[in-house]
Amino acid sequence: MGMMEDLYIKIRDKVNELGKTTGKYVDISKLKIKVAECENDISIKKQKIGNIVFERIQSGDSFDVSDVIDIVGEIKDLMKSKVEYETKINKLKGKCVCGVCKSLNNYDAQYCSSCGNDLSSDDSCKHEQEDDGKIDSTEVN
Ligand SMILES: [Zn+2]
Repeated sequence: MGMMEDLYIKIRDKVNELGKTTGKYVDISKLKIKVAECENDISIKKQKIGNIVFERIQSGDSFDVSDVIDIVGEIKDLMKSKVEYETKINKLKGKCVCGVCKSLNNYDAQYCSSCGNDLSSDDSCKHEQEDDGKIDSTEVN
């Protein structure tokens, strides 16, 4: 009986482990879709700006920057979201982007493998202290 329970626990743990790994890949795929959506929206909005500028010039109307400034703002927001999604993907993969040369490094690397930049003091590749070791005593029975 004890052996069967051990086996059951082992299998269960293995299944949970696999589940976690699969979840990670699902997250990455979802994030990749988000990145693609951002890129798509960015190019649509850029085209929109192009069309507005073209039509104004074509029809001889005066063109003012304020006509497209809202769309530029929307593009900036999309670019920011895209970088956030990409950062999340890299983090899930255990990678981070060097703030100097933009090359991909291991998340725990001290220096950039391409340019030697000190990644421990690089904001784009921040080495956040994970609080995994610390358990809040109020949550433990
Ligand atoms: Zn670098």
